[in-house]
Amino acid sequence: MKISVIGTGYVGLVTGTCLAETGNHVSCIDIDHNKIDSLKNGKIPIYEPGLDVLFERNKRERRLEFTTDLKEGIKDAKVIFLALPTPPNDDGSADLKYVLKVAGDLGPLLKGYTIVVNKSTVPVGTTEMVRNTIAERTKAKFDVVSNPEFLREGVAVEDFMKPDRVVVGSSSEKARNIMQELYAPLVRQGNPILFMDEKSAEMTKYAANSFLATKITFMNEIANLCELLGADVDMVRRGIGTDNRIGKRFLFAGIGYGGSCFPKDVQALFNAASGVNYDFRILRSVMEVNERQKIKLANRIREYFNQDLEGKTIAIWGLAFKPYTDDIREAPSLANILELTKEGAFIRAYDPEAGENIKDLKLEKVVICDDEYETLKNADALLIVTEWPVFRTPDFDLMGRLMKQRVIFDGRNLYELNTMRKYGFIYISIGRKEIHG
Ligand code: NAD
Repeated sequence: MKISVIGTGYVGLVTGTCLAETGNHVSCIDIDHNKIDSLKNGKIPIYEPGLDVLFERNKRERRLEFTTDLKEGIKDAKVIFLALPTPPNDDGSADLKYVLKVAGDLGPLLKGYTIVVNKSTVPVGTTEMVRNTIAERTKAKFDVVSNPEFLREGVAVEDFMKPDRVVVGSSSEKARNIMQELYAPLVRQGNPILFMDEKSAEMTKYAANSFLATKITFMNEIANLCELLGADVDMVRRGIGTDNRIGKRFLFAGIGYGGSCFPKDVQALFNAASGVNYDFRILRSVMEVNERQKIKLANRIREYFNQDLEGKTIAIWGLAFKPYTDDIREAPSLANILELTKEGAFIRAYDPEAGENIKDLKLEKVVICDDEYETLKNADALLIVTEWPVFRTPDFDLMGRLMKQRVIFDGRNLYELNTMRKYGFIYISIGRKEIHG
């Protein structure tokens, strides 16, 4: 099948590459010339494990092409995916200008029957808006389908190639059949393609992300209470996670969720609810608690140093919003850097993949180091923000020798309390007893 993908970011590039891998001819389109030049030259502009092998193979075999020219890119396409940004407006609602601009541009270019598939996360009713926008500008036959994407950065290729489920919102039988044909190679193990109306499909994406953000936030509240009452959140996590109704995943307490999806999607759903005079109270709390949780350890660091961070050096391990990505959008690391540097602290930070993205922000008082131990030279304390595996079994003796003081604030509960005691660290984590050397 000839496919086009408009928007070649985290979702668009993975979608395009994976659909080429299943034998389609895919043209990826973006307005960012640097991105397209880089892709044409064989360089992937993002870090996504496993993407390089598929990208190289499909590019070499000419099933995967890149262009900035919309007309050329959608020529002969049977299915056109939209994988465009939907960032938050000031009031938290989803900004649809990218999606609607492309819908408007597509109208006059459509020839013959085409399916326009929206993969961007959009509020209920957007598919209809896209349909109307295109219809005003074309006489060609087309369908607009809602096909929200559930891939997770860091395991995006696996998620796309073996999805738990595929959600397709459309009332057109013709469109449903073509979507079925397109996705069939990805659901051979029997995972379902769930056909539904387009509004339910749009809502499904927001409901999934808001539910997961709520689950994380609930555990963070439990963790905060564990600290006050002397319980251990890791034990509680195991205790409840073994209940099948609850499940083991998304129960790890930490310093809040971030990334390009959860924060904006929770806000957008809350805003959509407000638009129909529904006060979605749980989500209001989720947003408030998460903001507080993100800077919980920055506040604890300030307290530890008697409200005086002037001239202190804080090492930070992990900058990406989660492991296995270079994405720093809404990352808790940024909130912590801001909190600490505004009080006069210096930051020495390391991340296996996201360092360059932080460097691009040209933040004051922040040095990006080449490895995790480099950050510790003369550090007054270490703050762990992202649970990259490389941080899990470090050389604690070396750490202690490099640091000015053996003090760790761990936002991801990476270490056993006994280990910290043994190495003589002051160790403050989330929802567990504090260890004081
Ligand atoms: P992104 O910012 O990485 O990529 C979007 C791309 O669209 C950019 O490369 C941008 O240059 C391009 N673009 C903007 N206007 C364009 C235009 N007029 N024509 C062509 N290209 C244009 O965004 P993303 O993370 O891939 O997210 C895209 C959508 O998918 C969002 O709605 C997001 O909420 C949703 N989503 C993201 C994830 C994720 O993990 N990143 C997962 C599921 C869903």
